[in-house]
Amino acid sequence: MLSYRHSFHAGNHADVLKHLVLMLIIESLQQKDKGFYYLDTHAGTGHYQLTSSQSEKTGEYKEGIARLWDKTDLPSELARYVKLIQRLNGSKTLRYYAGSPLIAATLLRPQDRALLTELHPTDFPLLRHNFSQFANVKVKRENGFQQLKSTLPPKERRGLILIDPPYELKQDYEWVVDAIEEGYKRFATGIYAIWYPVVLRQQTKRMINGLRQTGINKILQIELAVAPDNQQRGMTASGMIVINPPWQLESQIKQLLPYLVNCLVPTGTGHWTVDWLVGE
Ligand code: SAM
Repeated sequence: MLSYRHSFHAGNHADVLKHLVLMLIIESLQQKDKGFYYLDTHAGTGHYQLTSSQSEKTGEYKEGIARLWDKTDLPSELARYVKLIQRLNGSKTLRYYAGSPLIAATLLRPQDRALLTELHPTDFPLLRHNFSQFANVKVKRENGFQQLKSTLPPKERRGLILIDPPYELKQDYEWVVDAIEEGYKRFATGIYAIWYPVVLRQQTKRMINGLRQTGINKILQIELAVAPDNQQRGMTASGMIVINPPWQLESQIKQLLPYLVNCLVPTGTGHWTVDWLVGE
């Protein structure tokens, strides 16, 4: 059962946090000339039209990327992220939003390469079409979790694995932990970035405890909440768990989050946290 379509959510506050962290990690990897492997296990389509009926139905991007769009006082990292989206739009009007594969592909150098996997029968052909012109990007209609077993370690011995499931199936929370164990066994020096929503805090906590119990060190948790936890339907917060984060990431994101929360949550109900789930 695959009912989730990212087009309803593209450019929302969770995408902003996820894609900012993604950009910062790629920039760090690119401080060295040697190429790296980027695996995007749950790719979506990569390109979203914000005027589509799906986007307009939820209007989520209006409380996400749209809140940063006209800002003139953005910290430099956020300015670089917004510029990526502006380049895609080609004008001052916000019409399009880039998914994680397009953000990454736009940043990749010739020596870097990417594998994108997506299972949705409608979204996969869109993904394939959107990346047909990128020489160093491969797309596959396969289960993303399995790629950690079948494609790691990469020949470059440097890599970033983004795991961004929809969590529409409760098993996704467990599959993330299983996939990380499989991947880490093969490629312990890789950077693993896991996106998670906070819908019911207990579900998120269970996954985090599972990650703690793997025995893996250096796990950083970054979270941005737009509202306090509650028991009703809907996402109140989202976060990124990063295994083996680049050394600058913690301080970069700690400097950016106060600005980001103020900007994305003008009602004042937001907050952020950055914590080591497991240290060195
Ligand atoms: N990473 C994308 C981005 O940031 O732009 C968004 C991805 S969206 C949250 C999750 C996607 O995973 C959906 O398009 C869904 O069809 C796909 N999906 C669900 N289960 C999958 C699986 N086991 N393997 C690959 N893709 C899957």
